[in-house]
Amino acid sequence: MEEKTALSSTDVASTITATADTATLQLIPATVTEIKGVRVFDVGQGDCIGLRDQNDEVCCYVDYGGNEYHPDQSNPSRTASRLPVQAGSHYVPVILTHWDKDHYWSANKKNPAAQKCEWLVPRQLVSPQATRFAAKLANAKCWPESIGDQAVSFAVGTDDEVEIRKCATFPANAQKEDRNHSGLAINLKRQPSGGTATHMLLPGDCAFDRIPNLPAKLSLRAIVAYHHGASTDWCAATEQTLANAYSPYVMAYSYGTHSPGKKNHYGHPNRSNYQSCHPNWDIGAIITEDIRAKGLNSSDLDW
Ligand SMILES: [Zn+2]
Repeated sequence: MEEKTALSSTDVASTITATADTATLQLIPATVTEIKGVRVFDVGQGDCIGLRDQNDEVCCYVDYGGNEYHPDQSNPSRTASRLPVQAGSHYVPVILTHWDKDHYWSANKKNPAAQKCEWLVPRQLVSPQATRFAAKLANAKCWPESIGDQAVSFAVGTDDEVEIRKCATFPANAQKEDRNHSGLAINLKRQPSGGTATHMLLPGDCAFDRIPNLPAKLSLRAIVAYHHGASTDWCAATEQTLANAYSPYVMAYSYGTHSPGKKNHYGHPNRSNYQSCHPNWDIGAIITEDIRAKGLNSSDLDW
């Protein structure tokens, strides 16, 4: 979801002055030997996706969002136990795809402990509200703009990698920015020795075709529908990107409603796009409003 960006938007780097050094960045501890899959949390309208370690615990979050239709609206303290940020004394890191509220807001009032995590964030023009939130992050680092649109890969164990790409460069002289398409996109890659690579794509709100330098033939095992399944920016190139992908396992839609089957006021998701492209993906899709209807907090996607 894109927030309306007024002229008073600020470069987040004016608040978060540290830049990540990708050569030394240790996002995920060496004790994590694999990314077993991902955990899609119900946070209402927004995204919060956990990367699961060998013990099935979240070792890193991609986004920590949720705003409207939040399941913990009447009991905010539940968020701390539903979306745990500590493993022992260690705080798990959070990779923020982009600076829209539905991707970080659970860390504001609902579980402020998440502000102690290491946050890896994109340099973007952000709202005054996001600037105030960013100022609370004790340990946040901007993704280095110098990397451009190249993927940087962080090895996890022997077979897995977390690939991070910044989808567009920071427009230093602009007064506004389409944050959906200039944030960080995450691609998980699994390649056993001598085997072929498979992927899980966590795009945030960036249309799949606008994620730079993805493999031409993505062998997808899991995919989270970008932008909560919206039709925004869906075009022929998006369909082509998905058509080139093969061996899909499962997809997920992350969005909120007041109750199952009720309308999401943004019109999310528009499942017809995926239905026409890969009907089987949609039929087996994990849907956050269904997760809630079953009395669950999250659902796992596996390799
Ligand atoms: Zn969003």
